[in-house]
Amino acid sequence: MEKTLFQKILDGEIPSEIIYRDDVCAAIKDINPQAPVHALLFPIKPIARIDAANPEDAEMLGKMLLAVPKIAKQCGLEKGFRTVINNGPDAGETVPHMHIHILGGRQLHWPPG
Ligand code: AMP
Repeated sequence: MEKTLFQKILDGEIPSEIIYRDDVCAAIKDINPQAPVHALLFPIKPIARIDAANPEDAEMLGKMLLAVPKIAKQCGLEKGFRTVINNGPDAGETVPHMHIHILGGRQLHWPPG
């Protein structure tokens, strides 16, 4: 299987700033930030998207969610943050390695576009 973009970043083949890493997941800064803080948190063992997750991924997904507030705090998002998971073409998914967007640092609007 060809490496995903995020696997290439983890392997140092594509430059990026890794801002968080634990035993199941890692986070980088988004190359095209949509807010003053825009991080991407992804599992080290790739799954294509959240609708490809299996019951055996439950622990990893739980650990990822628990990592979100740690990353938000590390990024100084005391006033709040938003998480987004794009799944499939209607959502605008572009990288088929599941990831959680973590956005903040400004007032975010609702509903999203
Ligand atoms: P999505 O559209 O939900 O699949 O999100 C993919 C995200 O990856 C987008 O927000 C892109 O800006 C971001 N992205 C693409 N290439 C890179 C890269 N080399 N480094 C960091 N972020 C990237």
